[in-house]
Amino acid sequence: MDYRLDFPVLNDKDMVYLDSAASSLKPKCVVDAISDYYLNYSVNIERGVYKKALDATNIVKETRIKIAKFINASEKEVIYTRGCTDSLNFVALSLKQMLKEGDEVITSPIEHHSNFLPWLKASQEIGFKIKFVELNEYNEITLENVEKAITKNTKVIALTHVSNVLGYKTPVKDICKVAHEKGIIVSIDGAQAIPHESIDVKDLDVDFYSFSFHKMCGPTGLGILYGKKELLDKIEPPELGGEMNDEVSLTSVTYKEAPYKFEAGTLPIAEIFGAGAAIDYLNKVGYENIHNITISLRNMALNEMKKMDDVEIYNDKEDSSVISFNIKGVHSHDAVMALAEKNICIRAGHHCAEPLHMEVLKIPASLRASFYFYNTEEDVKRFIKELKDVISFFKEVGLIG
Ligand code: PMP
Repeated sequence: MDYRLDFPVLNDKDMVYLDSAASSLKPKCVVDAISDYYLNYSVNIERGVYKKALDATNIVKETRIKIAKFINASEKEVIYTRGCTDSLNFVALSLKQMLKEGDEVITSPIEHHSNFLPWLKASQEIGFKIKFVELNEYNEITLENVEKAITKNTKVIALTHVSNVLGYKTPVKDICKVAHEKGIIVSIDGAQAIPHESIDVKDLDVDFYSFSFHKMCGPTGLGILYGKKELLDKIEPPELGGEMNDEVSLTSVTYKEAPYKFEAGTLPIAEIFGAGAAIDYLNKVGYENIHNITISLRNMALNEMKKMDDVEIYNDKEDSSVISFNIKGVHSHDAVMALAEKNICIRAGHHCAEPLHMEVLKIPASLRASFYFYNTEEDVKRFIKELKDVISFFKEVGLIG
């Protein structure tokens, strides 16, 4: 099966796209669904009583049900947001309503800034303490170390499901079990997990789960926050505006029930049309295929890179869809530019995980090649060849010995 044919951007045969952890490519069916909204509807939802408004409203409702089914939630637990960052900010902004000085929130030093900065700000405002779980020798988050970090003051655990730099997976289900025995709320950043594996929020028993559609073949500008209904019912909406309220007078307001009370203003309707198509597409390809193809291509590249003396790899365990590395002695920004000239698309920098780079890996920046099911063995071969050429070039100009 040649999945490349589904992705119009891959008509550029010379491009090797290994930056799917930043954003996946979008299949034509998703682009068509977005166009369908603009070409055939173009109206607002929930407000009008004319046919187009009712039909568009219905598609947005149906899509919420489809998303809920996709993650095994109830549709009342699925909040449309502007992206994973928005979802994660919502969690911190909401839960800080329940926190006080002396409480503790456990997170890790490998978090994406989106799952760290909202907690940092909230802790500075409220005075609760942030505790960082210790990592194991591979820089993974383990159940044992989370258990060690828990005290009687722990109220929330906020962790990534899969690291965007290392690609390693957090044992979320086990952590939830231990946390819930102690009444601790667990919020998980699923941005890098759901593109690669089927997520069942009920089986994981998470309290909150956040993700973005653009990393899973869907549109930009749309995310989901899953939240357990009983928790959502207790939370005041952090954002106010149109369509989230029942009755408003000059002195008072009553809110709709969850999830609607959390969706102030016009939703990203076109993106929701696209999200429905993305889910259909992922279901058609199947997570087993996605996982098998991605991991085998990534490990094919990894095996070649391990043979290169001038390459330092930061995550050489098998089960990851990314390779984080540096060319020894070369700044990642110089390396990424040289590779970009050869039409190899990877990313350089700290990947919005600066504490991970500075405090854990003790490097300012890294290169990240990330793989997905539309990549091919040809892509891997080209990447390896161009990487070798770039290394030779840096040797020729005397940048490395
Ligand atoms: N968490 C992780 C682990 C991520 O990789 C990203 C995206 N780089 C985010 C959160 C934020 O997602 P978005 O930019 O789509 O809001």
